[in-house]
Order: sequence, then structure tokens, then C-alpha cells
Amino acid sequence: MTAGAMLALAACSSGGGGDTGGDGGGDGGLIGVAMPTKSSERWIQDGNAVKEQLEEQGFTVDLQYAEDDIPTQVSQIENMITKGAEALIIASIDGTTLSQVLQDAADADIPVIAYDRLIRDSENVDYYASFDNFKVGQQQAWSVLNGLGLAELDGTPIDGAPAGPFNIELFAGSLDDNNAFFFFDGAMDVLQPLIDDGTLVVKSGQTSIEQVATLRWDGETAQSRMEDLLTANYSDGSQVNAVLSPYDGISRGIISALEGAGYTVGAEWPIISGQDAELDSVKAINAGEQYATIFKDTRKLAEVAVAMATALLNGEEPEVNNTTDYDNGVKVVPSYLLESQIVVKDNITEVLVDSGYWTEAEISG
Ligand code: BGC
Repeated sequence: MTAGAMLALAACSSGGGGDTGGDGGGDGGLIGVAMPTKSSERWIQDGNAVKEQLEEQGFTVDLQYAEDDIPTQVSQIENMITKGAEALIIASIDGTTLSQVLQDAADADIPVIAYDRLIRDSENVDYYASFDNFKVGQQQAWSVLNGLGLAELDGTPIDGAPAGPFNIELFAGSLDDNNAFFFFDGAMDVLQPLIDDGTLVVKSGQTSIEQVATLRWDGETAQSRMEDLLTANYSDGSQVNAVLSPYDGISRGIISALEGAGYTVGAEWPIISGQDAELDSVKAINAGEQYATIFKDTRKLAEVAVAMATALLNGEEPEVNNTTDYDNGVKVVPSYLLESQIVVKDNITEVLVDSGYWTEAEISG
């Protein structure tokens, strides 16, 4: 099924707080799937892919979305435990707030898989399915450098590249999401040397993650910060040449702020990164408003999480490929990390259409 078809399915089958999905399951038992919000397309695709794949394995699925409200997510998970879930797959809103409910899960012998976002400060997280999140951050930075003509998409410096200096502003994700730190650290691993040697200039001086974070990854919050940055630092006729953005929804907020400040797409329009290959942002890349996004195939992530759950319920060891990087504050959580891909205008068809993630018609529609 294409991602577009999955979205259509979500629109038809979901109502209120979430789908109980009890219809499609076999005798494999109940699995609880907790997703953060429907306000971002990727989580709808994740939820649908996990549900569909679990149902194919004969499980009944309780899929819930919490609209980014922490108490709602906690009570949804409590409900799953009460209903007799045999495993939990959780993409947390705030990775530090689930300790009590996860203790309840452990007391009931329910294994827990952290989905895409690491759950912190709890011993009761059994496995972690995600992407190489530090690399995602590096890819975001490489995409910015590529747009500025400084590097290839794999980060290799380009001979004879312009000397700059280029003005750049930085955005990070939500500080309660462990991923935000990995993305930002990965990006700064690439950008900091160029800030240090003067190729890149952060006119606002805001370079720490605390200064540039965006609570709940909210696009409007990002828009108003970008408006403030433009007013405070670029009212003297100087231009911002690039913006590091960690997520497509944040990029769209940044784009609105730039439009509001009178920037027009063309020569002076800044290079803007992103993440998730959301449909509106793929269109924005086609239109030249956003330079790049990072594609993380939610169908493959779902496959990993479903394989982990199935293995655990069959009394087998799930396959992992990283046992060092994801320390949640209490323990290193065994992880399976997938690879992500940079998408720019030139490879939209190859990466997103040929893989069946979006159709040509959806992108051009
Ligand atoms: C995910 C990103 C997503 C962000 C905002 C992160 O935890 O890894 O893919 O863009 O949350 O939803």
C-alpha cells in the first residue's frame, strides 16, 4: 500500500482518540500501540503500518494516539495493560514520563518496545527500534552544505566551493524527545567546524540546543522564533542564507516566517533542511521552498518493531544491531537502527516514488 493509501485508510477508520482495531486480529493476542499524535503525517503512517503488519501476523491491535498530551498517553497505556495487552509498542511524547506505567507493565510481565523515540529513565524498556539518529542529524547538515554549494550530499567537501561567509540559523526539536539531542549533535558535528572557521555565521549567536529547541516540534512555535530572529538580526539588510531544521513541520513554520518577512523563492531564498518526507514538504522541495528532507521509511521501522514483538512473544531473542549507543539513563537499551536517506528535488522520484512511499500524482497534486 502507498503512504497515501495508508493516510486515506486512517481518515476512514479513525475516530476520536484512536482505533481499537479489534476487528482485524486473529488469535495471536492483543498488542498495544501508543503513538504520540496525529498532527504529524509520519505517525499516522507509522501507526497504520504497525497495525496492519501485526494484524497480518494474527494479532489484535489497540492503536492509540495521544494528541501530544502526556497524561492522555499514560492513561492510554494503562488501559492497554488493563485490557490484557501482551506487548506494548510505544512512541513516547515525553520520553521521561512513563516510568510508573512501565513499572505496571513489567509487574504484569508485558514486554515494552520503544518505537523511534527512546523511553528514558526506566529499566522496563526491553528493546528500541529506530534509525541511526546521529547520522540523520549529519545528513540534515550535509543537505544544508550541499544547498550552499559547499559539500556533496555525503558530506564530501567540494573543491573550489565558495568561501562564504554564509548566515545560518539553527533549530532543534523538542527537549523531552531523546532524538532531538541525537539530531542536533549529529548536525553540529558537521557544522561546528565551519562555524569555528568563519564559513558559517550564526548572527543570532544562538547555538546551544536549549536556545534553539522547539517544544513538541511545533511549527507555529518555530515560525514565531524565526520571525523574531529575522527582526532582531536581519533588519539591517543582511540575508539569512540557510536554516538547519530538524523536521518538516518546523521547516514549514520557518518558510511561513520567511514569506512574511518578504523573502521570495529564488536567488535569495535560504537553504532549509527537514525530516520525514511529509507530503506537503516534498511539494515544497519541488517548489524550491525547502531544499531537502530526510526520508525514514516508516514501513521498515514498523517491520522491525513487529519482528521484535513477535520474537518476544515466541520466547525468542529479537534481532538487534546496536548495543552501545542508546543509554536511557538506567541502562543501554538493545536497539535495531535503520538507515535514512537524504531527499532533494533531483531524487524525489528515485527515493520516494520508486519505493512506493508516495505516488507521482500525490506529489504533483
Ligand atoms: C522523530 C522524527 C520526527 C519528530 C517530530 C522525532 O522523534 O524521530 O522523525 O520528525 O519526532 O515528530
